[in-house]
Amino acid sequence: ALYNSKTESRGQTTLYSSQHEQQIRSDRAIESALQAADLDQEFEVFLQPIFDLQHGEISGYEALARWTSPHLGVVPPDQFIPLAERSGLMRQLTQSLFNKALESITFLPPKHTLSFNLSAHDITCSETVMMLLGAIARMKVAPSRIVFEITETSVMNSYEIAEQSIRLLRGAGTMIALDDFGTGYSSLGYLHRLPIDRVKIDKSFIAEKGTKSSWKVITSIIALCRSMAIDCVVEGIETEAQKQSLKNLGCRYLQGHLIAQPMRAAEIPDWLERSGY
Ligand code: C2E
Ligand code: CA
Ligand code: CA
Ligand code: CA
Repeated sequence: ALYNSKTESRGQTTLYSSQHEQQIRSDRAIESALQAADLDQEFEVFLQPIFDLQHGEISGYEALARWTSPHLGVVPPDQFIPLAERSGLMRQLTQSLFNKALESITFLPPKHTLSFNLSAHDITCSETVMMLLGAIARMKVAPSRIVFEITETSVMNSYEIAEQSIRLLRGAGTMIALDDFGTGYSSLGYLHRLPIDRVKIDKSFIAEKGTKSSWKVITSIIALCRSMAIDCVVEGIETEAQKQSLKNLGCRYLQGHLIAQPMRAAEIPDWLERSGY
């Protein structure tokens, strides 16, 4: 429900189209297309810039998976990630996506970071965690440039194992972001118990057309993060007014269509030049 297809389809580089949106695909159809998919061919990784309000520059990018199935057309990640998890395909999919994400880092300025989403299965699978660390080493990417985004919901189900994975990844020098912050049950508890570098405030707090109550939540989370010396990113920023409000609140990072839609890594050097960042 958080997925705003109207806004997404406005951009030029986006793969979503209204024709595809109207196509109704059953979970079963998606699942069997996934089973048969050539992961390396059909999947792509798009990058969305993360803006540093304090310095007025781009600080990094979030990798977002894009799937164009030859049978079904474009299927959004909110639909295929849960099904990949359910049908035991997550490990291979994550491996393929992470390799693509790491390959895309060559297009980025050396100081910029790359954030990668991990699913509930990823964070509880030790082979996946070892694979992630192995890929970073093999590609000779500085671990400090990699941020793993993990939702509180995925940590919740098997807390002990998830905590081990998080400590392992972070021990190797990568950063950890708590994703979709504020939408789950025990966000505050995790902030305190886990070594978290960054919190991402979900766009659902923004999407409510800036109602007073959601801004109160955002304001308190920003203050909380500051008191714990944790970086804060607000996602789903679409207007200059929202950006100004965040700046006034002392929020450091934002992400959203106001800055840029997700795009291919190869487009980023040009985009950086055009936008003056
Ligand atoms: P997320 O991690 O919360 O990612 C942010 C979502 O917000 C993305 O949707 C992004 O395109 C969208 N977005 C960014 N700025 C704006 C804006 O200004 N307005 C609006 N309305 N939306 C904006 P997307 O790309 O459809 O991804 C949906 C979810 O799928 C992600 O939510 C994430 O949970 C999951 N996902 C995407 N790629 C991967 C992946 O490689 N691995 C895993 N495990 N999950 C992924
Ligand atoms: Ca994310
Ligand atoms: Ca999500
Ligand atoms: Ca989110």
